[in-house]
Amino acid sequence: MHESEVRALVESKLATIPDFPEPGVVFRDLTPVFADGPAFHALAEALTTPFAGRFDVLAGVEARGFLLAGAASALCGAGVLPVRKAGKLPRAVIREEYALEYGTAALEVHEGELPPGSRVLIVDDVLATGGTVDAAARLVERAGWRVAGISVAIELEALDGRARLGDRYEIRSLLQF
Ligand code: AMP
Repeated sequence: MHESEVRALVESKLATIPDFPEPGVVFRDLTPVFADGPAFHALAEALTTPFAGRFDVLAGVEARGFLLAGAASALCGAGVLPVRKAGKLPRAVIREEYALEYGTAALEVHEGELPPGSRVLIVDDVLATGGTVDAAARLVERAGWRVAGISVAIELEALDGRARLGDRYEIRSLLQF
């Protein structure tokens, strides 16, 4: 499927909810895309196609990034690195604090989960301020792996996540608002 067709299909299923989870936030909800087989398949494929041959593992950020990375990994054959919220992983972790568009949190990965130098493509649903994927990228680098790129379904351009991340990484988004 051509990228413009994927974009139209995903956008046709996407739900937009004003003032969730708090006033002023326009929430972009991918759950109707996840619920639609062809749309989910097309989205999962589109996230990795631009990076084909340039990554070994997909890092999915909890929780919606898990769905996207899991689906994409089944299509392309790469493994998945779960980037989890604090306190969920049972072995020694590396931890990064980060700020959300609403609230703060921390992300963790297991130390030594991947071979040194592994090329990791970071996957998430929405790039807003960029704090989440920035934290994920710092985790990948501190763990001794390489960031192959950042691939998101939706980029909220007004929140300037791309500017925050600078030109350190190749960033791709399917839909921009
Ligand atoms: P940020 O760290 O600001 O880039 O925020 C990105 C994370 O927060 C993503 O993992 C999204 O799941 C979530 N998020 C932030 N803003 C929104 C929004 N307007 N709609 C949906 N999800 C959002």
